[in-house]
Amino acid sequence: MPPCRTALIYSPLFGTFNYGDDHPFKLERIHMAYELMSAYGLHELPHMQIRDCLAASDEQLLSFHTPAYIDRLKEFSASDVPRADFRFGLGDADCPVFKGLFECAALGAGSTLEAARLVEEEQCDVAFNLTGGWHHAHRAKASGFSYINDAVIAINWLVARGRRVLYLDIDAHHGDGVQEAYYDTDQVMTISLHESGVYFYPGTGFENEIGEGRGRGYSVNVPLLAHTDDAIYLKAFDEVAYPLIAGFNPDIIVTQIGVDTFRTDPLTNLEITTYSYCEIITKIKRLKIPWVALGGGGYDLMNTARAWTLAWAIMNNVELNPRLPLSFIDKIEPLGYQNRVLLDAMHWAEEDERTVALAAVEKCIASIKKTIFPVILGSC
Ligand SMILES: [Zn+2]
Repeated sequence: MPPCRTALIYSPLFGTFNYGDDHPFKLERIHMAYELMSAYGLHELPHMQIRDCLAASDEQLLSFHTPAYIDRLKEFSASDVPRADFRFGLGDADCPVFKGLFECAALGAGSTLEAARLVEEEQCDVAFNLTGGWHHAHRAKASGFSYINDAVIAINWLVARGRRVLYLDIDAHHGDGVQEAYYDTDQVMTISLHESGVYFYPGTGFENEIGEGRGRGYSVNVPLLAHTDDAIYLKAFDEVAYPLIAGFNPDIIVTQIGVDTFRTDPLTNLEITTYSYCEIITKIKRLKIPWVALGGGGYDLMNTARAWTLAWAIMNNVELNPRLPLSFIDKIEPLGYQNRVLLDAMHWAEEDERTVALAAVEKCIASIKKTIFPVILGSC
């Protein structure tokens, strides 16, 4: 077998689980992205592999979650009648109890572990798990469509091997569960760019959340106001995330590359497009740090298909035709999707709104340069 430079983690088993027909988290988006990649010929590239995965073991899940929580997940997952336990965040509209939910979440953790293993043990440059990125799961509580925190389980596995890991989260929501796991350590740095928690779930991720004890300076948050557009988003990435990634100089970078930042996402208020998304993915790729990428959020299914296909193409140094392949259009048209193009034009928000969003991000960047940069970069 030739050396594996890039790996895509994909299990058709995810198609057998369903959060509920009215739930915004649609597992079929994984299949849609996989189909678009195939239509572009991105399943047959030199030095790439497609890997299936196994569910994470109980021992692996318990590296973060509590035994009582895991027991409850298993019990509810097997139940034939609707169940709820709000102490554990189970049974509300965001985290419904459905048949097989434990198997789904454990498989999600297993898929991210497999991505981490491919980078750590098989020296893959990049492993991309379309399914991963359930960043809101807490130690003993489900939240925000997340039951098991796959990123934390995989990072714990890497840390146990002595690796220094940087977790970068560009999903529209604050990566609160991952931040919580590493708030007091300097072994893992977390950086999250997200819509501001002032009015938005999960209500955390402010710039003054910088870690504590040995972890002081190793938790970084860039809250963004509604109407943040491509240029403002890139400014936040370029002035905060990029220098801090280079300064921390991790052995491995784990990214949650959610697509719910996009201006057409139904759940969020940022105004991002494929333009800044691709710029950021390209910049991460240029760092040449062994890379575990996780799909994350995205509630417009065509956005997830387009963005993750673009990300996979960038990871493999492939340029794509901006017109969607006809074979793919033939598949999505009967489903009601009118999309014809892969790329969005760079987007500018309305002047009044972007002035407010820009002022907020400039204030945030100044704060981070004062509190975080001296710790990570020495002196600034
Ligand atoms: Zn999200």
